[in-house]
Amino acid sequence: TLILGIDTSCDDTGVGVVKLNTDGEVRVLANRIWTQTVHASYGGVMPELASREHVERIDAVMGDALAEAGIAVNDIGAVAATSGPGLVGALLVGLMYGKGLSQALGVPFYAAHHLEGHIFAAASEAELRAPYLALVVSGGHTHLFDVPHEGQYVLVGATKDDAAGEAFDKIARLTGLGYPGGPAIAEAALRGDPNAVPFKEPLQGQKAFDFSFSGLKTAALLAHKAGAKPEDLAASFQRAAVHALVKTTRRAAEAHGRQTVVVSGGVAANRALREAFAATGLRAVFPGKGLNTDNGAMIALAGAAAIRAGRPPSPLTDGAVAYAPLANA
Ligand code: ATP
Ligand code: FE
Repeated sequence: TLILGIDTSCDDTGVGVVKLNTDGEVRVLANRIWTQTVHASYGGVMPELASREHVERIDAVMGDALAEAGIAVNDIGAVAATSGPGLVGALLVGLMYGKGLSQALGVPFYAAHHLEGHIFAAASEAELRAPYLALVVSGGHTHLFDVPHEGQYVLVGATKDDAAGEAFDKIARLTGLGYPGGPAIAEAALRGDPNAVPFKEPLQGQKAFDFSFSGLKTAALLAHKAGAKPEDLAASFQRAAVHALVKTTRRAAEAHGRQTVVVSGGVAANRALREAFAATGLRAVFPGKGLNTDNGAMIALAGAAAIRAGRPPSPLTDGAVAYAPLANA
């Protein structure tokens, strides 16, 4: 089955195509993303502008995705689109487009949870079978889930303040390293000294499996004011953030008896984070290239997982939701 996936949850218009074989194997055939630039001068995403841009672009992005996959629109066997969480106006564009397309083609429609999409992005690299632990580290989330069975998500821990990606973005802005902050910090860190700026470990000695980044952000601000070099700050902060993410996830994996950890979301693109997880001895699975930040292929992969699990298609009456916790246990 060829599955088309659509994500318009924020400021990226993403359309991807995934092939699900009868033996349950999945392969990404296309992944096209249009990243909106209209928001740059506002210093943040303007919801109404995001919706309008999605409307203007979605047809073209879908055409590009079909061309990349080398298929015709009539070859599509199922459609999946993000229904939440995200900006409601932006979500509605992809959701309505997906529903309409599924009706026109007479194929099933699957509403997908954005975070489940981020998690299933890792299915592009390795077979994903429960049980496993899933760490979603993105611009809006730092959430750790236990997945004891397919489709069951138990929240194990989460950030108490900023998301990891948000901290990368804010510190990059503070030090003038540019936007998006994650790649800018990672690049600058290569030229910096990770021992130059001391960062105190957040939530040190905690029994829970939570995260906190606001203390690191404040420490970075103070170090910046005291004249720390941006490269040194980047390297030191990145090391502290990576250490916190890996240490807590590793403890949670031990406590829950999980050997496999899925690490996904934009921050999962970070090389230092990947290397640190590889050194833990856990089986760490990351999304493939271009699948870490928001995209349509990960939603198609979530759709493929739903089909594989025998889940019924979604009712077309279900709408877009701004707030939608993934945990269901
Ligand atoms: P959410 O999914 O929580 O709604 P989002 O979709 O906006 O948030 P993503 O697109 O998954 O977030 O990820 C974007 C974030 O990832 C940004 O904060 C960005 O700085 C960060 N990021 C991207 N590449 C890297 C990298 N190499 N290292 C660290 N962070 C990175
Ligand atoms: Fe996202």
